[in-house]
Amino acid sequence: MIKDIATPARTKEILKKYGFAFKKSLGQNFLIDTNVLHRIVDHAEVGEETGVIEIGPGIGALTEQLAKRAKKVVAFEIDQRLLPILNDTLSPYPNIKIIHEDILKANVKQVMEEEFGDCKEVMVVANLPYYVTTPIIMKLLEDQLPLKGIVVMLQKEVADRISANASTKEYGSLSIAIQYYTEAKTVMTVPKTVFVPQPNVDSAVIRLLKREKPAVDMKDEAFFFELMRASFAQRRKTIMNNILQFYPAGKPMKEEIELGLNQAGIDPRRRGESLTIEEFAKAADALYPLLKKQ
Ligand code: SAM
Repeated sequence: MIKDIATPARTKEILKKYGFAFKKSLGQNFLIDTNVLHRIVDHAEVGEETGVIEIGPGIGALTEQLAKRAKKVVAFEIDQRLLPILNDTLSPYPNIKIIHEDILKANVKQVMEEEFGDCKEVMVVANLPYYVTTPIIMKLLEDQLPLKGIVVMLQKEVADRISANASTKEYGSLSIAIQYYTEAKTVMTVPKTVFVPQPNVDSAVIRLLKREKPAVDMKDEAFFFELMRASFAQRRKTIMNNILQFYPAGKPMKEEIELGLNQAGIDPRRRGESLTIEEFAKAADALYPLLKKQ
């Protein structure tokens, strides 16, 4: 019977054997609770036809639990010092491949084509390095990978922002950017005590299921994102004031902009945080002819 990696005793033994010192700059907080790991794998609905991409396997705590249920696990690890350790701890599992690469620089699409041809679906499952959670999630979504979804541990505060609804204080451009591509839900909150070393912030697990097509249709996607980010630039300002600040060329067209927003059913005195994704799409379509930068 193989002992789980994610127990306090086994983790300590592995770290000691290799004289491993954590690098805070790489967000190294390892999980030492198999129960939490099982629940993450459950939420990802990993089955024997599932291919899994993991980001940051550490010493293999989550990788091991994924490998027991998935068809195949491909894990990207940036820290070279972990490679010999993973080679040792994960040796009982033939269905794991470790790639020594920064996930932000990796060609994930190509890796998926090469590694998951015989899988029915591919999920990303990870305990993310907290210094870089948002860029990783945005890369996975913007690269338009053929993923079923993403189930990841991250800072609770970021999970709350990602899954927030309009008119809440957590709602902002991150909520919209991610909900545009996915249905987002926080599925677990996790205490600090299940990590070594313990992080300074509370943690949560979020599940992002890719939509078949983005949540809304609009004329110009890039302009939609630009207008949406501009509208949140100063949260306490109205969308009208934020828009004029971001698009100074729009100032002489103030009345046309107001008219456009009103015709789209949006009061220009509202704040960005009160607009749903659908309303941002309507606003973008109405203002595109006036504000699109040449
Ligand atoms: N999965 C392990 C666990 O749950 O115990 C470790 C998770 S730890 C929070 C994050 C891991 O991501 C570390 O192993 C770290 O070295 C790795 N990492 C940090 N930045 C990375 C990057 N840009 N690309 C790939 N891996 C990265």
